[in-house]
Parts: sequence; structure tokens; C-alpha cells
Amino acid sequence: MRGAGFQSIVVLTGAGISAESGVPTFRGPDGLWEGHRVEDVATPQAFRRDPALVQAFYDARRAALARVAPNPAHDALARLDAEWSGNLLIVTQNVDDLHERAGAARMVHMHGELKSALCLACGERQEAPETLSDGPACTRCAAHGRLRPDIVWFGEMPYHMDRIEAALAACDLFVSIGTSGAVYPAAGFVQGARHYGAHTLEINLDPSEGTHFFDEARHGRAGELVPAWVDELLQR
Ligand code: NAD
Ligand code: ZN
Repeated sequence: MRGAGFQSIVVLTGAGISAESGVPTFRGPDGLWEGHRVEDVATPQAFRRDPALVQAFYDARRAALARVAPNPAHDALARLDAEWSGNLLIVTQNVDDLHERAGAARMVHMHGELKSALCLACGERQEAPETLSDGPACTRCAAHGRLRPDIVWFGEMPYHMDRIEAALAACDLFVSIGTSGAVYPAAGFVQGARHYGAHTLEINLDPSEGTHFFDEARHGRAGELVPAWVDELLQR
């Protein structure tokens, strides 16, 4: 790590950072997510074709959050957020709530959140009740059975892109943690950050698809490598 001198950091996280908490990853673009093909649970077409299956899938993922906890990698990023006096934005592709449960505040969920629901009738984003399968009412327009998971499915526009693009253009350090580099636009963030002159670091179990775009790569478990990297940065 080129140690000193960084002012603005963007951290991108993916499913790999939650793996050691017991939240299964995706295993690549054609991989299965908890035994389901991605096309069957994470596209608008799947939801139109079989809404009951899709609702039940996300109800189960939401319920599973109660059985997992943040791991040392989430804790380390929360510590970075608390102690880093420069700019910081943690951009997660994850739909779990482990970053915020660890205490991170300067963060955005670009692919939505399990804990949120989106009303198809009025567009309101709202706290999700325990289950959406049973067709609860929207808290704003009172329509029944119109709440969908507030998850950005394949083919949909990620959230917070303006803020993320601005942070990438202004950062001098970009760090990607636990992501396979297969899902765009997130997979392209490293090239955007480099274009604006940032130092780029990958922390992942194995080389990601875009590993050659990074100035530096550290391969191993996030639960060990992320705390070590945060220690280095804060002791600079
Ligand atoms: P991915 O599953 O495609 O890739 C995960 C990456 O993490 C892999 O490269 C893997 O080698 C690495 N990894 C696994 N265990 C690790 C560990 N202990 N330490 C460090 N790295 C580890 O995930 P992605 O790139 O985030 O893309 C998946 C998409 O699926 C995202 O859009 C996300 O919204 C969704 N998803 C989210 C969750 C979650 O919220 N926890 C879980 C599964 C999928
Ligand atoms: Zn509504």
C-alpha cells in the first residue's frame, strides 16, 4: 500500500464480504443463488412470471438476516468510517444489512436492501414488513399486494449512481472487497476511479474477473485482510 497521502476513499463491497458471516455468495454470473438460477429470482421477468416464487425467495433471505451477524471485515470498515477524517463512501452491492449493523454510516446500497419494500402502485420505498408474500398494504397509498422487494434486479437501474460517480471521480483510493467483478456497472468502477487517477486495490478470496485493472491485489479472506488494511491506513 502506498501508505500516506490519501484524502478520499471509495470502498466497493460485494457478497464476498458477507460470506464469513454465513451469507452465501452468488458464485459468478451463471451461478446459483441459494439453489436458484439468477434468471428465476433476480429479474423483472421472473417477478412477472412467478411473483409468488420471487416473493418467497426474498422473504426467506430477509428472515435469514436475523441468524447472521457482522464479521471482522464489516467491523473494520465501520471503524474506518468512524476514524477516517477524509472523505469516504462505502458502496455495497449487498442487500443484507451487515454494514449498518456493524456501525457504518457513510454508505449506500446500490442494489437495494432486503429490509426495504417498493410499492408498484405509488413508487414509495418503505421499511419492509417481515413478509411480502402475504400482500401487505403500502404505508403511503394503502394499496394491497403491490409491494415488491426493493432490490435492483438485472436490467434495472442501480440506486445512487450520481453520488457514486461523483465519489469515484474525486477519490484517490478505490478499494474493491469480495466482489467477482462480473456485475456491471459496479465491475466498471475500478476503471472509472483509475481514469481519474486513483490508486486501486482489490481484496478478494481469488483474482476477480477484473483483477488486471487494479494497481494492487491482496487475495485471501476478507475477515483477515480487511482489518489488516484498515489498521495500515489508520496508522499511516
Ligand atoms: P459474487 O457472489 O458474484 O462474488 C463474490 C466474490 O467474493 C467472489 O469473487 C468470491 O471469490 C469472493 N469471496 C468469497 N468468499 C470470500 C471471503 N471470505 N473473503 C473475500 N472474498 C470472498 O458477488 P457480487 O460480485 O457481489 O455479485 C453478486 C450480486 O448478487 C450482487 O449484485 C448482490 O446484490 C447479490 N448478492 C448479494 C448478497 C448479499 O447481500 N450478501 C449475497 C449474494 C448475492
Ligand atoms: Zn403505495
